[in-house]
Amino acid sequence: MTSPAYRSAWMNDELQQFRDAVRRFVREDFAPRQERWREQHRPDPDAWPKAGAMGMLLTDVAAAYGGGGGTFAHEAVVLEELARAGVRFGTQVQSIVAHYVDGYGTEAQKQGWLPRMARGELVGAIAMTEPAAGSDLQGIKTTARRDGDQYVINGSKTFITNGVYAGLVCLLVKTNPRAAGPNGISLVMVETKDLPGYRVGRSLDKIGIQAQDTCELFFDDVRVPAANLLGGVEGRAFPQMMEQLPRERLAIGVMALATAEQAVEDTIRYVKERTAFGKPLLELQNTRFKLAECRTEAHVGRVFADDCIARFVAGTLDPVTAAMAKYWLAARECRIVDECLQLHGGYGYMTEYPIALMWTDSRWHRMGGGTDEIMKEVIGWSL
Ligand SMILES: Cc1cc2nc3c(=O)[nH]c(=O)nc-3n(C[C@H](O)[C@H](O)[C@H](O)COP(=O)(O)OP(=O)(O)OC[C@H]3O[C@@H](n4cnc5c(N)ncnc54)[C@H](O)[C@@H]3O)c2cc1C
Repeated sequence: MTSPAYRSAWMNDELQQFRDAVRRFVREDFAPRQERWREQHRPDPDAWPKAGAMGMLLTDVAAAYGGGGGTFAHEAVVLEELARAGVRFGTQVQSIVAHYVDGYGTEAQKQGWLPRMARGELVGAIAMTEPAAGSDLQGIKTTARRDGDQYVINGSKTFITNGVYAGLVCLLVKTNPRAAGPNGISLVMVETKDLPGYRVGRSLDKIGIQAQDTCELFFDDVRVPAANLLGGVEGRAFPQMMEQLPRERLAIGVMALATAEQAVEDTIRYVKERTAFGKPLLELQNTRFKLAECRTEAHVGRVFADDCIARFVAGTLDPVTAAMAKYWLAARECRIVDECLQLHGGYGYMTEYPIALMWTDSRWHRMGGGTDEIMKEVIGWSL
């Protein structure tokens, strides 16, 4: 929730209609299934094709490649509606992978992968993090050795969102272990179906976002065509990531803000209904002050996020501002959700109340896509 008179400058009637349709679908189809998804640590298998049929996937990829032909504003709508409904579903990762393909893939790769991704028939994962290398990606150990017209891949990845269903993995590898710094590091696309040597590990037991699958991936002499090297030239992964990371970071900021706004909205409703000492909690000055702080911070976040979304759509969002958005919005989210949980008393600790799940689910936003500290480094380097 934000200031009542405020409307995001990037919203228009077409986006509002899209929002209404996404909201209806997410609340009627995905939200009622969240308990099962949490128990099984992954969405139902039909969720991806259903999301594709609904038009929620690759909304800002060109229609010629099966996408929605929209802008990042359409992506923001989807991310906000999922977050507000408490639905954890990795559409943001699907988009990230699609944009790596769109940005650096060959025409044949775009035609081969993007329409299937838009329909939800092919699920994408981005696999960078390894057991011994997360923030410091130059320390990865997974290798891709050129052998004729193929690459032979060995190594493992961890914390991989969408990993269980992933049919297309955008994989960070060392193509030249002897090259200095990032120069020997590349992105290779791996089609996993019936691929010898490829193995999906266990679903990881997380403290939050249980409904979204996160797992380990193993590569044991996996062979892929050399043409799957993204961009066709070795050692280009870091420049490619620098171009694409603002999207990932802004997407996390958008999800974080939407969760914070929903937390404030839910809590206002709760403190009007719950009584203590003979009156609704809202009549206690502390409750009003806490919610006044939360609502103000959510509104400031909304104005900042809207500016970032508009700049991203215009192609002018720089990596430093994207890092600020991710760092600041995720930190506000965690603070606001924590204050809102406190106002629920003991009920806030019970998982049947959405605020409890928001509290555990929101924490990963300060780590995924680069930690708070790495965001501050990115901002700091620009000073
Ligand atoms: C739910 C979830 C989903 C994820 N999904 C994906 C995914 O789909 N694909 C993927 O590749 N990865 C994914 N990740 C991994 C995520 O990107 C990493 O966890 C993150 O980049 C941090 O790496 P790390 O966990 O190895 O922590 P480390 O790098 O070991 O960091 C540990 C601590 O040291 C700090 N630190 C490290 N370097 C510095 C520095 N230079 N200055 C100051 N402090 C520093 C960090 O900020 C952190 O506080 C996911 C993580 C989570 C939790």
